[in-house]
Formats: sequence, C-alpha cells, structure tokens
Amino acid sequence: MAIPSEPIGSIPRPPTLIEAARAFRSGRISQAELLSQRDSAVQDTIARFEATGSKVVTDGEQAKESFATYPIQGLTNIVADGTPIPFADGHIRQFPRLSAGPFKYRTPADVYLETAQRYAHVPVKQAVISPSALSLLYPQRAIPGYSREDYLDALLQEQEGEIRRCLQKGAHAVQIDFTEGRLSIKLDPTGRLLRSFIDLNNLLLERFSTEERKRIGVHTCHGADRNSTHSAGVDYAQLLPSLFELKAGNFYMQLASEPDRKRVLKMVREYKKSHQRVFVGVINVLERRVETPEEVRDRVLEAAEYIAPDQLGTTDDCGFAPFSDDTSRSRDMAFAKISARIAGTQLAARILGID
Ligand SMILES: [Zn+2]
Repeated sequence: MAIPSEPIGSIPRPPTLIEAARAFRSGRISQAELLSQRDSAVQDTIARFEATGSKVVTDGEQAKESFATYPIQGLTNIVADGTPIPFADGHIRQFPRLSAGPFKYRTPADVYLETAQRYAHVPVKQAVISPSALSLLYPQRAIPGYSREDYLDALLQEQEGEIRRCLQKGAHAVQIDFTEGRLSIKLDPTGRLLRSFIDLNNLLLERFSTEERKRIGVHTCHGADRNSTHSAGVDYAQLLPSLFELKAGNFYMQLASEPDRKRVLKMVREYKKSHQRVFVGVINVLERRVETPEEVRDRVLEAAEYIAPDQLGTTDDCGFAPFSDDTSRSRDMAFAKISARIAGTQLAARILGID
C-alpha cells in the first residue's frame, strides 16, 4: 500500500485562456471560441498532470471562473455586490449576491468532470464548493417571497445531486472546498458562524452513506490568492475540533506553510476520528521556491509520527489559482511543485515500508 497523494484542484490558466476570457467579456470572440480554448487548456493540464506521475488528477479548474462560483456563472438572478472577502495584502474578492428566487445551479461540477474524463488516463478527482460558502449568496435582507430556508433547501438539493452524479460517473473522490472555515473565526470570533457552517455542511454530508463518504473529503486552508491569504492569522486550534466533526472520510489540510507544523499535527492526532484520512499539505503553494523531493519526504515522515500511515495522504496546501484571473503563479511552477510532491511522497513511503 502506497501513501495516496492528490492535488487540491486549480492550476494557473494559460495566458491564452485568460486573454480569451477577457475577449469574450468584451464581445470580441464568440462563446464557442472561449469553450474551445477552455477545452484545450483542460487537455493540456491533464497531460502535464499525468507527466508528473500523479495517480489522481484534476482538470486544473481551467473552465471555472473561480472555485466558489462555478455553478452559478451566467445565472441571471445573481448580482456582483455580495459579501466581501478581504485578504491580508488589502485586496478584496467580492462574493456575488442572490437577487431573486428560485435558485438552481447552472453548471454543476459533474459537467466539468465529464470533460476531464475524456482526456484522462488515470482517475479524476472533482472539487465542489461547500454549502457554507454558497450560503453567503443569500443577502442579509430577505428576498420577498423567497426565504433563506427556501434557498438553503434548494442549495442542498443541488449540491447533493452534484456530488451523487460525480460519484456515479466515477470520480476518484469528491472534495468539498471549505476555505471559509478558518475565515469564519476571523469574521466571528465567538465561533457561532463556524458552528453554523459545520451544521449546514453536515446536513449535506448526512445525505450520503458511510460507504459514499469514504470518497468524500473536505479541504481546509487559509486562502491563497495573489500571493496572499485571508485567515493565516487564525489559529488552527480554533478550527480543528469542529473540523473533524464534519461527516467526511477525507480531509485535505493546508499544513506546509504553518509556522509550527508539529503543534498542528498533535491537534490532528487528538481530534481526528479513526475512520478519517488526513491528506497533509506538503507543498506551500504561496512560496515561489520549488520544494525538493527530500523536503517533501521529511514533511511526510514528520506527519507519520502523528498520523498512522494507513490514515495518511499528501496534498498541496491549496489550489495554485482558485480564481481564474490570478497570474501570481505560473503553470511551470505548479507542475514542478506537484512533481516534487509525488517524488517526495514515494521516498517517504519507501522509508515507512509501504511503497
Ligand atoms: Zn485552499
């Protein structure tokens, strides 16, 4: 048995695709041209992923505008002025807002999965956005005739269908992106917002059987956009006890960039349930320098002191470009780091005698 290694999801888009998206917005190219550019980017991304030796790949989220808003891109009842997400360097990502009911997904994740599976020769993992993130779409002031409860019911139904279809279509795993977990403590230090996020996400997870949940995971991080984070200042100690209450089989944790990894690993050992596998982040996606396989190996061995090898996996700390217009990192850098993750994880597995 080897140590499983999986990416988080996103890869920086090729400059030609970023330009095509701009050209489409200003009406200079047709939607068909944009779709064809996206398709080529997915094909190239998967080929480069496979060249790293990855046993599990993603589509690099090439066709998604962002990890959070992909299912609602193009809906007519969404406007731009929703909840602002402030980053440490001062830039802000504005979340959209629902302007009217009823709510329905436009492009669920299994549509992206099918495209990726056309090009992949190895299993494809699919990232989806969490109920808690999309709960922020509903405005503070209620929408007349369409209550928050109506919205959350519709949202959970869309998300259940999305995950179920991904599993049925053969996704290696489905990863629910929960970057707002750590952020929620910054927004509400009492922890009440985090509690409501955990409860809402469990309402979705409870719709799946124990067997299905083995293929469902949750990603946690402090954000990674334009070389900055949104919640690195929040102590993991405030998140981890609640995080492992989520009824998921796998956890994909940002860890490489933590200032004191051993302290975090001790908490993981304390709060993780026995049936939960933890994929530890061994690649710092915000650092420009590419890790060596030996550094990765040492990070895996360090984690193996706290997590039993059969409950351990490796991953990157976050996606390399969760927002499609983020050009702070290059494709070459992302794939060099992924190659180091694969090679370093194998080195560690050999030392642990499980390769
Ligand atoms: Zn992340």
